[in-house]
Amino acid sequence: MHDLVVHFRAPKGSLTTRSLPAEAQTACACCGLAGATLTVNDTPLCLVCAPAYAADDTQIDQHAAIIWLPQLDQGSLSRLVRAAWSALLVCAPGEPAREQALAILDDLSTRREAAAEKIGTYHPSRLRLAVSTLAPHHMLKRKDAASGLRVLPVAAWREQNSEALSTLLTNRNPAP
Ligand SMILES: [Zn+2]
Repeated sequence: MHDLVVHFRAPKGSLTTRSLPAEAQTACACCGLAGATLTVNDTPLCLVCAPAYAADDTQIDQHAAIIWLPQLDQGSLSRLVRAAWSALLVCAPGEPAREQALAILDDLSTRREAAAEKIGTYHPSRLRLAVSTLAPHHMLKRKDAASGLRVLPVAAWREQNSEALSTLLTNRNPAP
């Protein structure tokens, strides 16, 4: 399972997105679905999952928020977001599926408040900074501890990548 605290302790500057060469496209290591077009720290990721890993990207706090969602792992959350974004792409305003998708995204978004209550922030860059200063014995103490911290990609990220996302979301090719 993707442990945000462990992941955010990667060397400074290593958590940025890079493009995968088009011919190297593969399955996303987070959600398991086809269409990884980016890497973070050499891990292939799709556009829905990448913000959960790219804590060093300069605009990460505008593109993603930390939420408290112990019920779902990061990959399952990504598949839910992908389904909701797909509905927004194909359903006209007023269609029930579109309204349901918006309700799901709203509900997920409100869970940033629970994250802020628990750790004092919902900005990925702040968590990144905080966990980098944790002493090794703190990490040992939280060994095997379950965490409900997840990263939710938000509308600004979807809008910035709307063209590439519409290609990804309408591509029905099975994972290689
Ligand atoms: Zn993915």
